[in-house]
Amino acid sequence: MRANHEDAGIADSAEELTNAAWSIDESAELYGLIRWGQPYFSINEHGNMIVLPKGTKGNSLDLVGLVKELEGRNLNLPLLIRFDDILEDRLQQLHQAFDQAISTYKYQGTYQGVFPVKCNHQRHVVEELVACGKSRNFGLEAGSKAELLIALSLLNDPDALLICNGYKDQRYIETAILARHLRRKPIVVIEQADEIDKIILASKNLGSAPLIGIRAKLASRSSGRWGSSIGETSKFGLSIPDILKAVESLRNADLLSDLHLLHFHIGSQINDIAVIKDALQEAGQIYVELSRLGAPMGYLDVGGGLGVDYDGSQTSSMTSTNYSLQNYANDVVATVRECCEFHQINMPTLVSESGRAIASHFSVLIFNVLSTSTVSTSIPLKDSNECLPVHNLRETLARIKSIAIKSNIDHSQLQEAWNDAIKFKDDALTSFRLGYLGLPERATAEQLTWACAKALVELLPNQNSTPAELKFLSSVLASTYYSNLSIFRSAPDTWAIDQLFPVMPIQRLNEKPTQLGNFADLTCDSDGKLAKFICNGNSKPLLELHKLKKDEQYLIGMFLGGAYQEVMGNLHNLFGSTNAVHIRLANDNKYQIDHVVKGNTNSEVLEAMEHNPDQILERLRIASETAIQDGSLKISDAQRLMDHLETSLRQSTYLQI
Ligand SMILES: *Cc1c(COP(=O)(O)O)cnc(C)c1O
Repeated sequence: MRANHEDAGIADSAEELTNAAWSIDESAELYGLIRWGQPYFSINEHGNMIVLPKGTKGNSLDLVGLVKELEGRNLNLPLLIRFDDILEDRLQQLHQAFDQAISTYKYQGTYQGVFPVKCNHQRHVVEELVACGKSRNFGLEAGSKAELLIALSLLNDPDALLICNGYKDQRYIETAILARHLRRKPIVVIEQADEIDKIILASKNLGSAPLIGIRAKLASRSSGRWGSSIGETSKFGLSIPDILKAVESLRNADLLSDLHLLHFHIGSQINDIAVIKDALQEAGQIYVELSRLGAPMGYLDVGGGLGVDYDGSQTSSMTSTNYSLQNYANDVVATVRECCEFHQINMPTLVSESGRAIASHFSVLIFNVLSTSTVSTSIPLKDSNECLPVHNLRETLARIKSIAIKSNIDHSQLQEAWNDAIKFKDDALTSFRLGYLGLPERATAEQLTWACAKALVELLPNQNSTPAELKFLSSVLASTYYSNLSIFRSAPDTWAIDQLFPVMPIQRLNEKPTQLGNFADLTCDSDGKLAKFICNGNSKPLLELHKLKKDEQYLIGMFLGGAYQEVMGNLHNLFGSTNAVHIRLANDNKYQIDHVVKGNTNSEVLEAMEHNPDQILERLRIASETAIQDGSLKISDAQRLMDHLETSLRQSTYLQI
C-alpha cells in the first residue's frame, strides 16, 4: 500500500494559504483537548502534543520527540507509553479530594482507598501504585484467585486493605485467612449467600477467622453501561433478607465480631452524580443497621464507578460525567456523615475501589498511519463523443458550480443536484453491466460523481443545519487512514461496547486539518476500525485529519485508555501486545525509561495457539529443500526465504516501516 498523493498540486497550494490562519488553539478546541486533556496534555509552538506528567507542577515532554527517540531505541510503533508520574498524580488527586472533603465536612473518619487489580494487571503498574500509595496505606482489590495472588505478593503493608471480592471457593477463603499471619490485611467480602458456610467452615478448620465484609445488592436505580450491576436482580451481592440471614449465621457461629465492612459497587463509569448519591444514602442506612445489629463494622466500601470525563463535556452522557473528583469525594463524605450523625453511629473509614479514575490517564497509545484512500474527485478531460450518463454528469457538475455561495442556500436545490448525480451514476453502471460502456467511461462517471459531491460540500455552509441526505456527502468523500494497530488488541472497548476515547494527531497541530477520515486497523475484520469520535457530549463519525506528507510519519495518539483495554484486548488475526515503556520525568526537561515491556513476537502469538515455531520452520525448510531439488527454487532464494521466516518469528506482529 502506498500513500495516495493524487489531487496534490493545486489543492496543496490552496491549503498552504489556509494553513497560515490555523493556530494550535484551534486544534485544542477542535479535538476537545482543552476539555479532556487538562492538566496532562497540551500543544507546543511547533504544533506538537506535549505531555505534562506532573500536571502544572512540573516540566513537559514533547510527545513527538519522545516517540522518535523511543523508535531510535528499536521500540517500534504501535507503542504504549505509560507515564508513571501521571499515575502517581491521579492517586494523589484522589487522596487530596477525600482529604479536602473530610476537612470541609469535619468528617470523623479517614479515607483509605484500594486499586481494583482488574483495571490494569500489569506488574509494573500495580507495583508502582503500591509504592506510590504506601504513605497512605493504599491497598488492592482482588476479584479472582489469580488477582488475589498478585495482591498478596505485592502488598506488604500491614495496614493496607486487601479487599477480597469475586466468587470464592474454600481454598480462596482459607488463603485469605492464613494470609493474615503474613502481616497482610485481607477482608473477605461475602458476595454470595453460600460463601457464609464456607467462611464458617474455614474458620473452624483453621481456628482463626477472617476479617469479614458483606456486599449489598442495592435497590437504587443506576444508569450507564453497567447499570445492571445494581438492583435486586444483579449478579452480585446479598439482598436485604440475605444480609439479615448472614448476620444471624455469623452470630450463631460466633463470627459477628469479625464483620467489619459493608461493600457495594453500582457499576463502572457512573455518568450521573444523582445515581451515586442515591446509592450512598441506601448503603449508609444499611451500614447503620448492621452496626445496630451488633457488628463492630468500621469500613464502608463504596466500590468503583468514579467516572472519567472522556470528552471533557461535563455532561451525564455515556462518554462523560456531570461531576468532578472533588464533587464525588464531597458526596461520599457528606452523605455518610449525615447518615451516621443522625443515628449516632461512629463514622466509618471510607474505602473506594476507584480503578478507571486512577488508571485511565497515564497511558497513551501511539500508532502510525500507513496510507490513506479516498475517492478521486479530479475531473477527467472531456472526450469528443461521451456517452449520455457521462455527459449528464458533466452538466450536473457545471450546474452545481454555477450556484453562488450565499448565506441562505436553498438546500432543496443542492439535494436535487445530488439526486441527479446519483441517478446518472446508476445509469452509467447499468450501461456498463449491459456492455454499452467501457471501463474508462465508467471510471469517468464515478470521478464526476465524486467531483459533484465535493462541489456540493463546498457549498454547504454549516454542517449542523444540513439535511441528513446531504450530511452523508462528507462521508462519501472521507478518507480511510490505514493504521498500524489492532483495535481488538489495543482498544477493544471501542469495538465491544462502543466506548469513545479521545483520538487525535500528535503533530502538525499548527496546520489546518483538511481531510475528514476514520481509521482502519490491520485486521482482516471490517469491525476493525475507529469510526466514532468524541464531540463534546456527542459523537461524530469522522475526524479532521491532515493529508499525509511524503517521507513523514503521521502519528496518532489514543488517550485515556489506561484502564481495562490491555487485559480485554485479544489476539484477533494474531496481532499481539504492542511495545510498552514506562517513562518518568527527570530533571532538565529530560526523562528516564524505567521499564521496557517488549510486545509479543510472532513466535509468542503462535505458541499461544499451540503452534510450534520450530516445527513451522522445519516444515518450511523441508518444503524449500524439495523445491530446490525440483529446480523450482534457487538456493539463494531459499536462503532469503528462510531468513525472512526466522526474522519474522523473532519480531513484533505489527508492520515495520
Ligand atoms: C470493576 C470493579 C471496580 C472498579 O470500578 P471502576 O469503575 O473502574 O472504578 C471496583 N469494584 C468492583 C467490585 C468491581 O467489580
